Amino acid sequence: MGIIVQKFGGSSVADIGKIKNVAKRVVATKLAGHSVVVVVSALGDATDKLVELARQISLTPPEREMDMLLATGEQVSIALLAMAIHELGHEAISFTGYQVGILTNNSHTKARILGVKSERIMGELNRGYIVVVAGFQGVTIDNDITTLGRGGSDTTAVALAAALNADKCEIYTDVEGVFTADPRIIPEASLVPEITYEEMLEMAATGAKVLQLRSVEYGRNQGVVIHVKSSFKDGTGTVVKEEDEGMERPIISGVTHDSNEGKITIFGVPDRPGIAAKIFRPLAAANINVDMIVQNVSTEGLTDISFTLSLDDLARAESVIKDIIAGLGAKGYNTDTNIAKVSIIGAGMKSHPGVAAEMFDVLARNGINIQMISTSPIKIACVIEAGQVKTAVRELHEHFQLSEEAITRETI
Ligand code: ADP
Ligand code: ASP
Ligand code: MG
Repeated sequence: MGIIVQKFGGSSVADIGKIKNVAKRVVATKLAGHSVVVVVSALGDATDKLVELARQISLTPPEREMDMLLATGEQVSIALLAMAIHELGHEAISFTGYQVGILTNNSHTKARILGVKSERIMGELNRGYIVVVAGFQGVTIDNDITTLGRGGSDTTAVALAAALNADKCEIYTDVEGVFTADPRIIPEASLVPEITYEEMLEMAATGAKVLQLRSVEYGRNQGVVIHVKSSFKDGTGTVVKEEDEGMERPIISGVTHDSNEGKITIFGVPDRPGIAAKIFRPLAAANINVDMIVQNVSTEGLTDISFTLSLDDLARAESVIKDIIAGLGAKGYNTDTNIAKVSIIGAGMKSHPGVAAEMFDVLARNGINIQMISTSPIKIACVIEAGQVKTAVRELHEHFQLSEEAITRETI
């Protein structure tokens, strides 16, 4: 009998009615003859509410305590789901990340899973129990509670699927799968039936929050095929997997956006070797991920350095910059929260020159100024003004004909 890991996100367990609905789905999977491990997120926007409570005390709370707080959200949902399964006449048992041995490093608030002990879960599955595991959390070797970064329950599910050698890893959410753009902004976006890990990595890294970036990385590294489906509607959803022959290869697979980024610019930095390391090493030491970096051409030996990062890290990054700015000999810095990132992703870009120019044309025609650009072989990302992001996504989606059946495709 094969194991299926099913993950249900916050909106799928937002209230008691929805929790009961999840319980029914899980029981149906069990009755179909599978061993079921369920991963759940906190109820609805419970995690946002916890973040807000902490903010009322401090903009830079100790990250260990932040994890202690955030991990409570999932402890509520696992217990309620296990109770709902019991009510349907089936055996279920809930566990925190700590209890099932989801071991992480100690990067509090964005910890990485190092390994999962599968014995406890296997024991319960062998007894015929449905096992309910708290998403988004783990424990360090010193028994400190950690969390895996926003959206981290996806990664819990993929890591469990890998550790248990599961037959399937299904991520149930509030949309029918991965779309060519966020369906909340582009209602006519098309469902992508299958997508390679590489493209999904880029989509997740540039804001398509339907899967956490780390879950896709984990899936690729461990060979876990990820199925994304709707909690509310039946459908085939999206399969995220290794590229294979016969897989369709669109020039552009999707347009993504990220409105949760801010920019810091440091002015009048002496242009000499070692300066960039002096800025970015302390940021890394403070567990802050930097996204794009731009350094201007220097005039009279001075330059400006701008970089973008998650808004969640902005306050902590600012306090790091304040501490180092005098030592850098820089003139000052500012922060800009009025930015967003819009990106296009597609493996077919590699063999189609001119895609970047097309993107820049579309933005220019719509009066959208590009502040920063970054590229990979299968991605072009532009930082623009926040207020223009919806127009940018809509116009790019339309220009590359992503809502139409006749998407320009080539087969390998
Ligand atoms: P969950 O609570 O189930 O983890 P999330 O809110 O984390 O769900 O992710 C699902 C959301 O991701 C959708 O509601 C959708 O608005 C957003 N999203 C952004 N880009 C995309 C995309 N390209 N395809 C599908 N969903 C997307
Ligand atoms: N509850 C966490 C969050 O809101 C984890 C998750 O939903 O995946 O980010
Ligand atoms: Mg999510």
